[in-house]
Amino acid sequence: MAAVPVDLRSDTVTCPTPAMRRAMAEAEVGDDVYGEDPTVNALQDEAARLTAKEAALFVPSGTMGNGICVKVHTQPGEEVVCEATAHVYWFENASMAVLSGVLPRLVPGDHGILDPQRVAEAIRPPAYYLPRPALLCVENTHNMGGGTCTPVATLKALCRVAQERGMATHLDGARIFNAAAALGVPAAALAAPFDSVQFCLSKGLAAPVGSLICGTRAFVEKARVFRKMLGGGMRQAGVLAAAGLVALREVVPSLPEDHRRARVLAERLAAHPDLSVELEWVQTNIVMAKVKPPKTPGQVCATLKERGVLASPAGAQVVRFVTHHDVDDAALERVGEALGKPF
Ligand SMILES: *Cc1c(COP(=O)(O)O)cnc(C)c1O
Repeated sequence: MAAVPVDLRSDTVTCPTPAMRRAMAEAEVGDDVYGEDPTVNALQDEAARLTAKEAALFVPSGTMGNGICVKVHTQPGEEVVCEATAHVYWFENASMAVLSGVLPRLVPGDHGILDPQRVAEAIRPPAYYLPRPALLCVENTHNMGGGTCTPVATLKALCRVAQERGMATHLDGARIFNAAAALGVPAAALAAPFDSVQFCLSKGLAAPVGSLICGTRAFVEKARVFRKMLGGGMRQAGVLAAAGLVALREVVPSLPEDHRRARVLAERLAAHPDLSVELEWVQTNIVMAKVKPPKTPGQVCATLKERGVLASPAGAQVVRFVTHHDVDDAALERVGEALGKPF
């Protein structure tokens, strides 16, 4: 019988741990639309504490979380400044245009990392015939940038630029705990410069479902209205929140292991004759490998699949590999074997 493939397509493929399943089975629940689910309330309190914000709201997905935050911070006809390959722009079905009626203003970063000077230049001056720049959105870690981290000083400088121009600031921190682990700072330090933060429980934290959005009490009250409007008001959601609490307590501390394995993987990929990797940009659990022509990402992924390893094409000549809680050292060895021959 063929072994189960080593799935490096994304950290979203992680399954809930036995401790999560137990916590889910035993969770105390209530109707969260009435605000009466004690487990959801505990998760929201913990998220607010970890990001040092006044309050937090449990939402079904990161996409809904970002969409709600953009909605709260903007009016139709305004502009959102974000990195050119930001998740909010690429992978959320034009949500900002559809739900909020706003335009993205794209600023290319260096491996996803924004330069405050370039952001300042992209913020339009006030004029009645120009869209008003209303929101700066920063992604940390940056997915398409290859899991790269924006350090605290840069985050502060970016937010200062935005605030001087009267803009709100939002952090798409889907993988904020990966950034915190890699930078050696608390997540709260990364969240501090921002008005709002979204983070995912269902990526490297291995919980089955959910994200938190965090900000002031007034922000969260507005966000709650839009969550309900979008159909994200859940009832006995404590069964999901219970897994999230375990994720924050038990999986966050293991993220450095994912990063160590990503480093080992990156070195193996870099040694392959058909691939190249910018090793200095491998900072967390994502590795972007460049495929040398005439080989294509499709060919590389197909051959790896035959050898029991799943990865995903990510752009014209790139394959993305993501380490996560369900990839141990034995799995990493199998990936090494799959990389032992040309494609
Ligand atoms: C996955 C992801 C999201 C969206 O989260 P979903 O739960 O998949 O909707 C948002 N931003 C970034 C950077 C992500 O990686």
